[in-house]
Amino acid sequence: MSGRRDLRTRLIHGGLERVEGAVVQPVFQSATWEAEETASYDDIRYLRLSNSPNHRDLAARLAGICGGEAAVVAGSGMAAITTTLLTLLEAEPGRERPHLLAQDCLYGGTLSFLTEDAPALGIDVDFVGGDDPEEWAARARPGTRAFLVESLTNPLLEVADLEAVVAFCRERGVVSVIDNTFASPVNYRPLEAGFEVELHSATKYLNGHSDIVAGAVVSTAERVRRFTHKMNHLGGVLDPHACFLLQRGLKTLVLRVEQQNRNALFLAQRLADHPSVAAVHYPGLAGHPGHERARRWFAGSGGVLSFDVESAGAARGLIDRLELAVDAPSLGGVETLVSRPAVSSHAGQSPGRRRALGIGDGLVRVAVGIEAAEDLWADFEAALAAGS
Ligand code: PLP
Repeated sequence: MSGRRDLRTRLIHGGLERVEGAVVQPVFQSATWEAEETASYDDIRYLRLSNSPNHRDLAARLAGICGGEAAVVAGSGMAAITTTLLTLLEAEPGRERPHLLAQDCLYGGTLSFLTEDAPALGIDVDFVGGDDPEEWAARARPGTRAFLVESLTNPLLEVADLEAVVAFCRERGVVSVIDNTFASPVNYRPLEAGFEVELHSATKYLNGHSDIVAGAVVSTAERVRRFTHKMNHLGGVLDPHACFLLQRGLKTLVLRVEQQNRNALFLAQRLADHPSVAAVHYPGLAGHPGHERARRWFAGSGGVLSFDVESAGAARGLIDRLELAVDAPSLGGVETLVSRPAVSSHAGQSPGRRRALGIGDGLVRVAVGIEAAEDLWADFEAALAAGS
C-alpha cells in the first residue's frame, strides 16, 4: 500500500490481499503447509519460520506503519530484542570482538540480558548516558557494531539526544537501534529520523489490550532477512492466534495513543498542581528535561508518566486506594495501570543505584489507559486526599 496514505488508513488497509473475501483475516492454525520446492530453509512453509499468512500480514502492516522496507514479528519484545542483538553482534572470524554501546537506563529485561548473558556469548557492552557524544566516542572501539537506545526511558521518561545518536552512528558505520515501545510509531518515527533498526515490545501500544506478549523488528529487507534467519534458529516465533489479536489491536493504534497522550498530559498537569505531589515526570510538561526534544521530535509525549510522593508508605497507600487504576506492571493497554518502580521494574537494582538514577521509594509510575480523563483524575484526587 502507498506509503503516502495517512497512518490511520495504513493501519486498516496495510496488510495482505483478503483471503476468500473475508474482511478480517482468519487465524491460520496450521503448523505445516503443503511442500513447495524452495531454495532456502527460511522459505519452507512451517510455523516456526514465521511465514504463515498471519505472520506475513503483520510484517507487511508493521513495515508500512513504521516506514521500513520489511518487518518480522516475534514471540515477545525480548525475543525481538535478543534476536536483533545476537544477529548484529555475531562474532565473525577475522573481525574484532563485537561490542555494543547501550543507553544506561534501558528496560530491565534488556539490561539483564546485556549484563548476564551477552558477555558469555562473546559480546562486550558499554553503558553510556543519552546526551554526550564525547562519552560515546570515548567508549567506542573498532569492534563497536551497534548503539541501542530507547525513545523514552522508564520510569522518568527521559529523552536521549536521538538526533546525535543517529549522526554518531552514521559517521562511524555503527548500526543505530532504537526500542520505540514507549513512544510508539504514532508519537515518534525513528526510521524517518535516520535510525536503522526499530524495535517494539508489541505487547504494549501496538497490541494495546494487555492480552498477549509479542515483539517486532522493522528495518531494511536485507537486515530483516538476517533477523528472521536467526529467529528461525532461536525459535522465538509468535503464535498465530496472538498474530490475529495483534493485527486486530493494531487497527486502533492511533485512536488509542492519541487518547493516551491527552489523558497523560491532563493527569500530569493536575498532579503537578497537587500539594501532596513533590514532582511529576512527563515530557509534555514544560519543566521536564526532555520537554524541548519531545516537542521537536515527537507528535505526543506518550501515555506513561511518573510522580513522587513523600515516602514508600505514601505511595503504597495511594496505590491501594485507587479504584480505577490497576496495580500491575506493563503499559500500553486500554486500562490505566500503576506501579512502584522501586518494587517492580527496578526491584533488581540496589537502593543506592536507584537513588543515583533518580528513582525514589515514593515514585509512582502511571501507564495511562483510554478512560475518560476526568474519571482518572477523580480517582487519583480522591486517593491523594484520603492520604493527607
Ligand atoms: N522494551 C520495553 C521498553 C519494555 O517496557 C518491555 C517490557 O516491559 C520490553 C521491551 C520487553 O517486552 P516483552 O515483555 O514483550 O518481552
